Amino acid sequence: MACGGGCGAHAPLAIGDALPALAPLRMALEPDAHAEELIGWLQAYLRVDTQNPPGNETAGARWMAGLLEREGIASEIVEFAPGRGSLIARLPATATSATTGERPLCLLSHIDTVTSEIAKWPADSGPLSGVRKGGEIWGRGALDMKGMGILELAVMVHLKRRAVPLRREVILLAVADEEVDNLGMKHLVAQHWDRIGCSHLLNEGGIAIEDALAPGQTFFAISVAEKGLLWLKLTAHGKSGHGSTPIPGRAPDRLLDALAKVRALAPPTQIHPSLYASFAAAGRDVGGVVGFVLQRPSLVDLLAVSDLRAEPGTRAAIENTCQITGFSGMFAPNVVPSEVSAQLDCRLLPGVAPRAFLAELQRAIGDPAVHFTVIHEAAATESPMDDPLFRTLLRHAPGLGPRVVAGPVLSVGFTDSIYVRPLGVRAYGFVPLQVSRALAETMHGERERVPEATFVRGLGVLWRVIIDAAAAPPAAGASGAAAAAMAN
Ligand SMILES: [Zn+2]
Repeated sequence: MACGGGCGAHAPLAIGDALPALAPLRMALEPDAHAEELIGWLQAYLRVDTQNPPGNETAGARWMAGLLEREGIASEIVEFAPGRGSLIARLPATATSATTGERPLCLLSHIDTVTSEIAKWPADSGPLSGVRKGGEIWGRGALDMKGMGILELAVMVHLKRRAVPLRREVILLAVADEEVDNLGMKHLVAQHWDRIGCSHLLNEGGIAIEDALAPGQTFFAISVAEKGLLWLKLTAHGKSGHGSTPIPGRAPDRLLDALAKVRALAPPTQIHPSLYASFAAAGRDVGGVVGFVLQRPSLVDLLAVSDLRAEPGTRAAIENTCQITGFSGMFAPNVVPSEVSAQLDCRLLPGVAPRAFLAELQRAIGDPAVHFTVIHEAAATESPMDDPLFRTLLRHAPGLGPRVVAGPVLSVGFTDSIYVRPLGVRAYGFVPLQVSRALAETMHGERERVPEATFVRGLGVLWRVIIDAAAAPPAAGASGAAAAAMAN
């Protein structure tokens, strides 16, 4: 439970100051005035079927490209396979401000969604309906992540309509195949990154959940890191034989023994600096004894770790985990097979190398008749909390609603951000939508939907973030006139 090398991060997070000269631009967009248009875009986008497999993301990319074209924003679609397209659209830096040296800011979303069990959705508001019902917009991808894709698209459109001067290029990326093999993002990184080259990127991975850390408080998680992964196939070998005569040391027994050792692993607890920082932010809001404890890492270590370990969601954030996800082999009831396999999904904390973890696992199992095959591996990735974009996110996140507290988190799952962080890109998971726990569970589940109110508010939050992160301050003396020209 040591704080590792990140103890310096225990000081309260620096929120940073916005450029006062950007204030008129930040106020220039009134989201409520554009609510109907914004909701209409999401409805239309939800109706484009990009459930993956098979994906068909080019259809979604074309829909976006058409809208952008009508707004005078050029874009291109690049495919890694027929029908599997990703979209790239750019707003260039304004010539006079291009000398700031800031590299582009990327706004990333994925076009594909997971599939749906239609029978589990209401007949009048299915996964491809895009229906408005009860103040919510229904459809697969409303939260993961066509909603955010539309917010990013809308920010591009409003920057263009208002001719906002930009001090850096803003690039919209909407990629294919995030939900299955990440081939869209891999393709962009391998084939097109030399002409994208952003230094910072916003993506999924963090969202605002009501009552997440304290009742009545909404915690807006901003993802700064993602656990690594090691997917393994364990195969036990032995002599085959007749099922009527049990003989020790046969393959199925060896596999079970190996898996029992995996399940008995007692990994050390390691609290990522982001978690201490978020507890402190939540604690300042809560106050009282609980707030006092949450703001002190040594007390969190002393008093909260057993609670964190008891809850699977938080336990996964503070330990290396391995979950058994499947079995394969011969299944004749009276034959002992010579070979049986199990599949493991291990997720690793920052600083843990997948191969080092594998060696540890092999040592713990200690059976030469059990062989390991690596299916997929990736180390954890992190972006710094000492970063101007991160501070900007932290500053604007509370604008999403009353008692919204924001803080950094280590995500236990991974997103397309893992492919760009190794290139030096600072990627943050930031989806400005406020949802209940129950609604958050509709992602990848049934009846996925987003409340209209938070969707519209999210546009305001994202707009203010992008203004601070990319707009050029108006020249002195021109700000009043410029602001008037840019108002709705
Ligand atoms: Zn997603």
